[in-house]
Amino acid sequence: MNNFLNANVKILPSALLKASVAGAKPTRRNEGLNDGYKNTRAGKVWLIGAGPGDAELLTLKALRAINSADVIFYDYLVSAEIRSLFPKNIPAFYVGKAKNKHSIAQEDLNQLLVSQAARGLNVCRVKGGDPFVFGRGGEELLELRSAGIDAEVIPGITSASGCSTYADIPLTHRGLSQGCTFVTGHAEKNLELNWTALAQLKHTLVFYMGLTRADEIAQNLLAGGLAAATPVAIIENGCRKNQRNIISTLSEFPADVIREQVQSPALIIVGEVVRIKEKLQAAVENHAAESQYLLA
Ligand code: SAH
Repeated sequence: MNNFLNANVKILPSALLKASVAGAKPTRRNEGLNDGYKNTRAGKVWLIGAGPGDAELLTLKALRAINSADVIFYDYLVSAEIRSLFPKNIPAFYVGKAKNKHSIAQEDLNQLLVSQAARGLNVCRVKGGDPFVFGRGGEELLELRSAGIDAEVIPGITSASGCSTYADIPLTHRGLSQGCTFVTGHAEKNLELNWTALAQLKHTLVFYMGLTRADEIAQNLLAGGLAAATPVAIIENGCRKNQRNIISTLSEFPADVIREQVQSPALIIVGEVVRIKEKLQAAVENHAAESQYLLA
């Protein structure tokens, strides 16, 4: 039997991945479906946002597309819980880009998606969070549509939204923060950001991929005029069973990242909204204390 068809959930080096997929025969599942999930002759690529980790945050639409897949390519941010929902008889390949450990070059991956759809397969490209938020969804969609491939994006819950919610931190809050900006901490060299503008927004800032840039983020925001005591939350493994929330301040969080040995994936939330977490906790404790008093 063909390796490719046997290869449910495997990590393959780029060359092997290309070779295996090149040898694959289209399986053309779900011939009976009578809607947009049906295999068409030309095949289709779904760029799917799987959310930050909790499988219950997957949309119904995402699950339906996954269940109609002939082949799945998934990222390193797609949690084990979500991978366990992949149909067992369908090949699923890891094509992730963990920091400094790219399993396959982006150009090769684009080619792979195009070639598989051109064979008539329903291809699901499953990504963490939302494909259009620091997820290269735009680049892949452009490549696919330019190659004449039918391609569609299914939005997912982006980690800023999922992680903050699971940490009891609203991204905006009346009287505290009238907006929210998503910023990437990823750059080849220095981060080319308008730090003064960011610091002066006086609203919530969420840094994706900022873990290794904690010092740079703190120093630049302080220099831009944000107070040293501005609260910061570092959320590690958000929306997963092992989620960790570390509450700190702008001047101290880089040291906390080191002391607490924070691991990727982690999100950095900067702003007054972080204080709402404490308020919620205090509200629960007050309520419990009052109930005890009344019972006594
Ligand atoms: N498209 C994704 C983001 C990809 S960039 C989205 O919409 O969420 C990768 C970065 O996202 C990570 O470095 C981290 O900062 C953040 N991230 C993704 N999943 C996360 C999780 N479960 N917990 C914490 N941060 C996460």
